[in-house]
Amino acid sequence: MALIVQKFGGSSVADRDRIMNVARIVANTRAAGNDAVVVVSAQGDTTDDLIAKAGEITHNPSQREMDMLLSTGEQISIALLSMALSVVGCPSISLTGWQAGFHTNRAYTRARIKHLDTERIESELSRNRVVVVAGFQGINRYDDITTLGRGGSDTSAVAIAAALHADLCQIYTDVDGVYTADPRLVRCARKLNEISFDEMLELASLGAQVLNNRSVELAKKYSVNLEVRSSLTNVPGTIVKEVTDVEGMLIKGVAKDKDVAVISILEVPDVPGASFKVFSLMAQRRINVDIILQSSGKDGCKDVIFTVPLADVDAALAVLEENRSRFGCGEILADRSVAKVSIVGAGMQSHSGVAARMFEALFEANINIRMISTSEIKISVLIAEEDADRAVNVIHDAFLN
Ligand code: ASP
Ligand code: MG
Repeated sequence: MALIVQKFGGSSVADRDRIMNVARIVANTRAAGNDAVVVVSAQGDTTDDLIAKAGEITHNPSQREMDMLLSTGEQISIALLSMALSVVGCPSISLTGWQAGFHTNRAYTRARIKHLDTERIESELSRNRVVVVAGFQGINRYDDITTLGRGGSDTSAVAIAAALHADLCQIYTDVDGVYTADPRLVRCARKLNEISFDEMLELASLGAQVLNNRSVELAKKYSVNLEVRSSLTNVPGTIVKEVTDVEGMLIKGVAKDKDVAVISILEVPDVPGASFKVFSLMAQRRINVDIILQSSGKDGCKDVIFTVPLADVDAALAVLEENRSRFGCGEILADRSVAKVSIVGAGMQSHSGVAARMFEALFEANINIRMISTSEIKISVLIAEEDADRAVNVIHDAFLN
């Protein structure tokens, strides 16, 4: 007998039929002789709708009251699912985040879990009940309800799996696993049987939105095996774990991120401290800089070029302009029509020629590379946005066909 944590996202519990479907999945897990803790998100677009409701009252709501409001979405789901479980003959009990023992720090709307007190969950399990827990929420030291940030239910599920040493944490969603590329974009994209935590983290930060990043970090830290699978089809999903047999796959995925922009600061004096000044300004404004390129000095000047998230480009330009006298540069330019295309795979650590193969595919498609960055398991190129979809396809063909 195993202990399985099963998390169901908002689309999996969106309406009555979906909830009954989830109840049957959970009942089958029990019938197979397992204990189950189930974590659910708010139904469908409930969280967005609640945020909109707050916006009808004020544009500057108290964060404490936002958490009070948003936590209700998950509370609806746990009650309905627990009722559905009794309809299918499966004994269960619903628990809010605080009843389930989630203690967080004070940070309303983006709280971090400090400690999970598993006593209540364990005692309910020992009474042979399925425990249905509200994801995304906990309680802080003032006994106030907190939420964990958007998409936080994945993290709730992984935290429970870690604390209870569960055998598996299944994340049920509306896609049947993690794919080598966005299937809407690449026709021959295929589902991966396995992917490592590190690869998943790279893909997630590149916009493959199947799992919340923090949940993968937590799963890695506590060695919780995850399975991403669909609640709508009964097929095995993708296992996310520490090391994967490389399956002979050099590259696990190709991802595209259109939400980037390039900032170029031209003719910066070629003296010590120039880059320090630029990037400390970005750090002060909490702007994440990704790829950085600095030209070699010429005539006493150099160009400093870097990418930032598209959402931050105006703030970045403003702070640079305000401080331009501090680094005495020439023009400061922004280009928003760029995209970052990346390949991810732990296999590239032990194989040469991966970058060359990627660049060859782009060359054959006549796509110009503007910037390049690499890590141990990732290679990213910055290209014109209009070329991005084509780039993903030709790179996918080069490695994954
Ligand atoms: N309901 C919350 C959200 O939509 C938490 C979650 O779905 O994980 O962000
Ligand atoms: Mg949601």
